[in-house]
Amino acid sequence: MASIGGQCLCSAVKFEIHDVEPAIQCYCHCETCRKVRSAPIVPLMLFPIDLPYGFADKEGKFKVTEGADLVTSYNHTHTGPRRAFCKRCGSAVFNCGKWIAIFPSTITSGASFKPECHIHYEDSIMPMRDGLPKYAQGPESQKLEEDSPEKP
Ligand SMILES: [Zn+2]
Ligand SMILES: [Zn+2]
Repeated sequence: MASIGGQCLCSAVKFEIHDVEPAIQCYCHCETCRKVRSAPIVPLMLFPIDLPYGFADKEGKFKVTEGADLVTSYNHTHTGPRRAFCKRCGSAVFNCGKWIAIFPSTITSGASFKPECHIHYEDSIMPMRDGLPKYAQGPESQKLEEDSPEKP
């Protein structure tokens, strides 16, 4: 099956994902994503890969193939993901923990972003009128009325 490759802005950090399809492709509106990326909305592709420690999983589905020594991560909360970034250029490269989330802007081969929904939309600072489902919190949370004018 196909592999997905990605890298940071300075190209020092490269990663690969093998033999696993994204489970969710979405835009996240949560405050943490917005602050850490300095962006009103953050596109994410989420993969069911468990990566509690380090930057390569046990099953060989995900690996930092170059520049692992330049990858560092930040935990905003004990329960949230580790947010990995390149120490040289500052690019966010992936989030990891119970899932791996990658950012479409890092992808160099093997996949393209096909957004399915918006998550944490109750925290949105930028309304989106794109007809995609909008969830108050995570994808299993309350679905908000689509493109409702009174919601953000
Ligand atoms: Zn870099
Ligand atoms: Zn988020």
